[in-house]
Amino acid sequence: MNATAAAGLLHLIAAEPTLLAAAPAAAGEADLDHRARHEDHPCLGCGSMARCAIIVDSATAGPRWLDLCSACWHVVRRANDLTGEE
Ligand SMILES: [Zn+2]
Repeated sequence: MNATAAAGLLHLIAAEPTLLAAAPAAAGEADLDHRARHEDHPCLGCGSMARCAIIVDSATAGPRWLDLCSACWHVVRRANDLTGEE
């Protein structure tokens, strides 16, 4: 995934947060760690095994899981910094 694709992904998530699985409202580090390490989820960017779990707090849809492999996570994080979205 490149920066353009990552920015597109962030915009898609902002527009359609229900594409992501609902996350528990009070998820903490242990929940993130468990999902990333002990559950099998495909990376939303490239489809390979996700290694990172992030919670996107959507104003309209509540907390949502964003599963990414480590490579895509770095690209998405950089795109997020550039676009200023949270
Ligand atoms: Zn990936």
